[in-house]
Amino acid sequence: MKKDLRSLNLIELQLVVEGLSEKKFRGTQIFDWLHNKQVQDFSKMGNVPNALKEKLLDEYMIYTVTKARMQESKEDGTRKYLFELHDGEYVESVFMRYAHGNSVCVSSQVGCRMGCSFCASTLDGLVRNLTAGEMLGQVYAIMEDTGERISNVVIMGSGEPFDNYDNVVDFMRLLSHEKGLNISGRNITVSTCGLVDKIRKFADEEMSATLAISLHASNDEKRKRIMPVANSFSIKEIIDACKYFFDKTGRRLTFEYSLIAGVNDSEEDASELSSLLRGLNCHVNLIPVNPVVETGYKSPSKEAAQAFKNKLEKKSINVTIRREMGRDIDGACGQLRRRVKNQEI
Ligand code: SAH
Repeated sequence: MKKDLRSLNLIELQLVVEGLSEKKFRGTQIFDWLHNKQVQDFSKMGNVPNALKEKLLDEYMIYTVTKARMQESKEDGTRKYLFELHDGEYVESVFMRYAHGNSVCVSSQVGCRMGCSFCASTLDGLVRNLTAGEMLGQVYAIMEDTGERISNVVIMGSGEPFDNYDNVVDFMRLLSHEKGLNISGRNITVSTCGLVDKIRKFADEEMSATLAISLHASNDEKRKRIMPVANSFSIKEIIDACKYFFDKTGRRLTFEYSLIAGVNDSEEDASELSSLLRGLNCHVNLIPVNPVVETGYKSPSKEAAQAFKNKLEKKSINVTIRREMGRDIDGACGQLRRRVKNQEI
């Protein structure tokens, strides 16, 4: 299997061309084509000699990310993309416009093996990891399609980013590379279901990115019912790792909490959650669960979600209810890919 050229950082690329007896600056040129001009086709790299391209092609290729479908929300302009990968697999990405700039939500894996009971991405398990280049490719393809700048990236699409740790970190470094999109770590958010060892490792990377934790329950017993990963790591271990992350980076944490009617949205849930997070520099993002037919879960009424929020606020917890975007376009992670794969649309 050939390796993905777009996943290499500048130094690696320079070393590769030097290894092929070419001058280092050729590596810089190729990096510029890939990450500044964002081409994903060797033939467009005008100033790179054909002999070098041919030598590169012995070992490398560019793992392409090609638009297969796009759905645009009539309500808020959110766009959901389905991209086809070089091997015929599909991933989803979402483009959102906010007052503070445009944001892209990227997938980190084809499918997922975490098994969260409310999530459509995991229904068929993990197919494969994405390369750093394939994650970048989602952002680049959306920039090309919209003709707009992207200022924020959230790694909250399909997949568990910390189950594909090295590629995700490479992706984040490429995203903030000064010769690439130059997006500061502060404008990148990575969301994990709570792989504790990786949270600690990520804290040590000193990347100044935002870390979001998918908590979704306020005690281990309940969490185990909806998230199998809770059998491997306790909430206490997660909170301890979060404290470590904060001490190392000074970055405020985000906790995601998907509200599922009758499962985790009671008053007791809210008070247990507030005790858990007391004293932690954090923000809670409540997400009314996006119903997926297969899960049977329902989202709470607006009033119930508001009551949950009020309860947390009374305990001085910083909390918002996520603005629902793109509900009319298969908004929940993994839904569009499944529908196309199952030939429903
Ligand atoms: N694996 C990462 C990224 C997942 S997607 C993680 O677990 O954080 C980003 C967020 O959407 C997670 O908090 C995930 O739990 C949540 N999510 C997935 N499916 C959902 C659904 N149907 N409704 C609401 N939130 C959902």
